[in-house]
Amino acid sequence: MTCILGLSGGIGSGKSTVTRILTELGATTIDADAIVHEEQAAGKPMLKEIAAAFGDQVIRADGSLDREALGALVFRDEDARARLGQIVHPPVIAEMMRRAKAAVDANDRLVVLDIPLLFEGRVSGRGSGAIMDFDETLCIWVSREVQIERTMSRDDCEAAEAERRVAAQLPIDEKREMADHVIDNSGTLEDTRTQVVALFERLTNSAAH
Ligand code: ADP
Repeated sequence: MTCILGLSGGIGSGKSTVTRILTELGATTIDADAIVHEEQAAGKPMLKEIAAAFGDQVIRADGSLDREALGALVFRDEDARARLGQIVHPPVIAEMMRRAKAAVDANDRLVVLDIPLLFEGRVSGRGSGAIMDFDETLCIWVSREVQIERTMSRDDCEAAEAERRVAAQLPIDEKREMADHVIDNSGTLEDTRTQVVALFERLTNSAAH
């Protein structure tokens, strides 16, 4: 039996770090952001739909997506954000489900779907009819202060910018309440690894029965 785990957290909380450890332990990992980038590559139908909806100003001269221009357009406009979600979410969800199904058919023990906005609920593609099913959900947690510190040092940005990005998401303490499992990534990487190994063993053992 395969266990399908939905993994999330907040910006800078350690999603990529924990996903990497789970991959090393033998999990099959599916990265929602990576799929979004693949589907938005030059020449892909999604990019044409985005250009049709938001205008050529979101396309660079080389035909690739201008993420900053698109981000600036949707940042303050909820309707534009919803329209973008309607274009992006269904094909991305379909591709994640296709990969998850392939892993189930191959009898992989643990499939991890790394989805930044899992707990915001946007992944269910409200209104699109698409639904993702998980056996378990996991929140990678650190305090809001640590989120801001780590985002600043990783992305080399100012505190105000990191705070703005953290504030744009559901508070991480609420996500923690919604998850079946929590990894506390406040300590050293070694502390985190110990927790991840224990969780991996629990999930893969219970999936075996
Ligand atoms: P996310 O994918 O959730 O945005 P990352 O995994 O990229 O977060 O982690 C954010 C930053 O914090 C990265 O630079 C990462 O190397 C660092 N980091 C992650 N976990 C720890 C930890 N336990 N101790 C110190 N630094 C960490």
